[in-house]
Amino acid sequence: MQSLAGAGRVASYIPELAKVPAGRFGMALATLDGQLFTVGDARERFSVQSISKVFTLTLAIQQVGEKLFERVGKEPSGNPFNSLVQLEYEHGIPRNPFINAGALVVTDELLSHLPDAKAAVLAFARRLGGASDLEYDAAVAASERKTGFTNIALANFLKSHGNLHHPVDVVLDAYFHHCSLSMSCVELAQAFLFLANHGVSPATGERLLTKSQAKRLNAILLTCGFYDEAGEFAFRVGLPGKSGVGGGIAAVMPGRWAVTVWSPEINRHGNSVRGMKALELLTTMTGESIF
Ligand code: GLN
Repeated sequence: MQSLAGAGRVASYIPELAKVPAGRFGMALATLDGQLFTVGDARERFSVQSISKVFTLTLAIQQVGEKLFERVGKEPSGNPFNSLVQLEYEHGIPRNPFINAGALVVTDELLSHLPDAKAAVLAFARRLGGASDLEYDAAVAASERKTGFTNIALANFLKSHGNLHHPVDVVLDAYFHHCSLSMSCVELAQAFLFLANHGVSPATGERLLTKSQAKRLNAILLTCGFYDEAGEFAFRVGLPGKSGVGGGIAAVMPGRWAVTVWSPEINRHGNSVRGMKALELLTTMTGESIF
């Protein structure tokens, strides 16, 4: 694992993220029967970034169900997470909820159905992660707001196609806050357990999604969770999962466990280099994957 140090770069397009020490490495695996295994910096909080798209999608499905997919697709994009080109070809309907354009539409949907989309996502993460003190990182959100010209362009483009109902600034503000959420590997692994458990949180007993919705969300994670590297992740790791440019990856083994790994150096697709390697070794050495 050490040999991969320097193989990626800490994200710097959000300046605040560039301050994170490159050498951090943490991993946590939580099982459905209550066991927890940790490695390294598993309890240090980091910026979850696009992993928050799993929380926003879950909340949106709770609110509107399948209707959501009239505004956003469920096909792999084969393009970078912040691509504008595909959105133009496809007339403002994002390929899937895990690319940035898709998450902006999902956030817009939350703004229509929840009194406070920022508070709702935070409350959701606190409840599932078992940590009432989780917070958005205001400095990260502000940093992204200042330099997020591509996301601003995506939001304006969606708006021009009539696929954003709220003001661009309002949607972006909620989206940037969702991305700025700080969580540790342990908290994220706990929070993802409902996806390993047919939609029911083992910690709270709460049903968050129907069995069928949980299956579908895992299917979208497998096919779209790593953008234009989803095939590579499925090939090497063989689990549904989601990455973020903060260097985190959360993945689930349905019926068994959820795992999170954090290592800030990411590759050109925005996925953690050592994180992917660690999960590849985990599924290879244990022989456990969905295949
Ligand atoms: N906040 C980041 C962005 O919008 C999230 C991207 C990611 O984690 N892939 O660019």
